[in-house]
Amino acid sequence: MKEDKNQMLNNNEIYYFDHASTTPLRKEVKTVMEEFYSNKFANPASSHFLGEKSERAVENAREEIALLLGANKAEEIIFTSGGTEADNLIIKGIAMAYAEQGKHIITSSIEHPAVIESCKYLEKHLGFKLSYLEVDQEGFVNPKDLKKSIRDDTILITIMTANNEIGTVQAIKELAEIAGENNIFFHSDAVQAVPQMQVDVEELGVDALSVSAHKFNGPKGVGALYLKSGIKLIPQQSGGSQERKRRAGSLNVTGIAGMAAASKLLREELVTKVKKIKALRDYFIKRVFSEIDNITLNGPEGENRLANNANLTFEGLAGEAILYNLSLKKIAVSTGSACASGSISTSHVLKAISADEKSAKSAVRFTFGLANDKSQIDYLIDNLKDTVRHLRSLK
Ligand code: PLP
Repeated sequence: MKEDKNQMLNNNEIYYFDHASTTPLRKEVKTVMEEFYSNKFANPASSHFLGEKSERAVENAREEIALLLGANKAEEIIFTSGGTEADNLIIKGIAMAYAEQGKHIITSSIEHPAVIESCKYLEKHLGFKLSYLEVDQEGFVNPKDLKKSIRDDTILITIMTANNEIGTVQAIKELAEIAGENNIFFHSDAVQAVPQMQVDVEELGVDALSVSAHKFNGPKGVGALYLKSGIKLIPQQSGGSQERKRRAGSLNVTGIAGMAAASKLLREELVTKVKKIKALRDYFIKRVFSEIDNITLNGPEGENRLANNANLTFEGLAGEAILYNLSLKKIAVSTGSACASGSISTSHVLKAISADEKSAKSAVRFTFGLANDKSQIDYLIDNLKDTVRHLRSLK
């Protein structure tokens, strides 16, 4: 197997444009993790010398994540098994802790399922009332709508920093300010935002924020929740007193050390990384629009879009058909739809921004990353042109 220039993927014949789903582990991160798998295996809760070593590694990692997110104190970071758990923990944990003050929660209609399903759980099982804010055609929540939907019994607002499908970056600072003025707890799912832009919890004014390591070349199955100190939370797992009694369970030390290594690299390289990826994304969009007819860009143009995201609708074609054809050429992309029980379901995000369901099923998401280069984009475009031409000729 050949090694790629970025030492990221082990095979040059793979054309990976699905970085919003996950990213390859960086070699530097893998090296750190191997040391933990082999030698630093002790449980950080153990009092002996080896346990202390692991505990020190976890606390160093906590400081590293705090630094990445601009948190004032390391103890404001709670390690979780990923973005999904961080979202579940904060939404259910806050709802349960503050239910006596009210049972109304506000979110948006384009959140990740980890947020939407947590909200639905509270609706179904614990009698909470939900308001799902509509978004405009580019996926933006209107701060005026947020103001209007606040009630006396609203205890939580949860709105994602950036959308995983169409890349829309919300005006989180403004939205969090509205929450603050009304004394309402504000959480943001920043799983997609953190890898692509500077996210500073103090600057944004959020009370809580979710992040996941595998979206920035770290390991899968580890993430973190930032929770401003002094805020109560009902833990969602019963067990030991790990993570200051906010998240029970033996810590995934190897994953946490890997996440810290990936965070450090991200923090140090964010500006150059984003510049590179944005240039590739813009090159892709420019070429695609000049060489393929009848396509539209889903989500916003310009600054308020994640640097790595291009989501396109190919008029008259099924996104899934494009995906499968490209996959035959070792090209990995994604659609907003998922094939469930033989029928194709439509993405709730595309439905929220599109006029009709048919065009939502014609969308393909391309998300770029560190291991991509211009020659790979050229290969992608050449094959995309062939695929679209071929599929359209069958009509
Ligand atoms: N939130 C967003 C916006 C995501 O894109 C994802 C993953 O795709 C998650 C949450 C879930 O994160 P994890 O895969 O770490 O559970």
